[in-house]
Amino acid sequence: MIPVLVLNSGSSSIKYQLLDMADRARLATGVVERIGEAGGAVADHAAGMRQVLAELEGNLDRGALAAVGHRVVHGGDRFRGPTLIDDEVCDAIRDLIPLAPLHNPANLTLIEAARATFPDTPQVAVFDTAFHQTLPAPAHTYAVPAAWRDELGVRRYGFHGTSHQYVSRRAAALLGRRPEEVNVIVLHLGNGASVCAVRDGQSVDTSMGLTPLEGLIMGTRSGDLDPAVPAYITRRTGQSAEEIDRTLNTASGLLALAGSNDMRDVEAAAGKGDEGARLALDAYCYRIRKYIGAYLAALGRVDAVVFTAGVGENSAAVRAGAVAGLEHLGISVSPKRNVAESKEERYISPYWAQTAVLVVPTDEEIEIADQALAAVG
Ligand code: AMP
Repeated sequence: MIPVLVLNSGSSSIKYQLLDMADRARLATGVVERIGEAGGAVADHAAGMRQVLAELEGNLDRGALAAVGHRVVHGGDRFRGPTLIDDEVCDAIRDLIPLAPLHNPANLTLIEAARATFPDTPQVAVFDTAFHQTLPAPAHTYAVPAAWRDELGVRRYGFHGTSHQYVSRRAAALLGRRPEEVNVIVLHLGNGASVCAVRDGQSVDTSMGLTPLEGLIMGTRSGDLDPAVPAYITRRTGQSAEEIDRTLNTASGLLALAGSNDMRDVEAAAGKGDEGARLALDAYCYRIRKYIGAYLAALGRVDAVVFTAGVGENSAAVRAGAVAGLEHLGISVSPKRNVAESKEERYISPYWAQTAVLVVPTDEEIEIADQALAAVG
């Protein structure tokens, strides 16, 4: 047994998985919700940690735990890989709070609770941004004043790194090649959504930027937008930067266009002839298609386009819509393979296709556990 506990904290929740990495099996999984909320039974993340322990009772021999892996959202340009946590690393995660004001504080609170609970177990931070630290300067630079770039850290960081890393490696395996030999475009389409261009196993461009707001249309986020829009809205309505930020993050995307942030609802409504839902679906797919085109240009040669996460793994309509019209670029899906129900890694391109189109279910927890063990050595 090589037990590893993976913790993923939001501002009011803790998701956990206990894995046995000796045979890559999931021993226990769960979520503690409504932390710190009025009427909730869990006062804070320390109490949440105690509840996780109580739920793991019987499954977990505390002394035997090989590592605790923490998902941390923002590692800035400081963290390029999984990192053993000590006081200095906690300070660095704290310093990065301005870049991720909602996520990093929650991650930090849980790290502190877990360090107190498992004082003898190595704790490892696995950053959402780390995989994208290989972006070359032309890809991560915004054309803004040096003071913003140098003093305020304004640049593209990218997110969903653990997922893009895991999925691109699995895609290489499916192609029968080593990760260092393949170029792939990964489409992580979940509640949040991002695209990643992977060359020879390394991230060379990605659609999310300074924050997870840029890029694709998402459940509640707008994605790409003329940067002049917030100032325009302020001039017209007097709304503050905070209000506009909240609107673009939580009241835009599919929700704003179709009235639901869940792709299943959007597809059902579009099927019944709802025009808002139809537009939402078309705009969602069109945005993905534009990014595929852009990343074909960025990579030059592409071995596979890979769909993952809730929408990417389950929605045949989105997959077909995203690659519609790309046949002349060698990218298409087989109508039959695309709609076949499966939870497995699979090809959905026709057998004659020049470029493989794949579905690879993501598994961020196993990737975090793998990286945590690698950092422990
Ligand atoms: P994730 O963030 O990866 O868990 O993805 C969550 C999203 O996946 C949900 O909000 C749904 O919009 C979407 N999803 C899940 N199942 C399906 C499905 N069968 N068809 C379309 N979308 C789905």
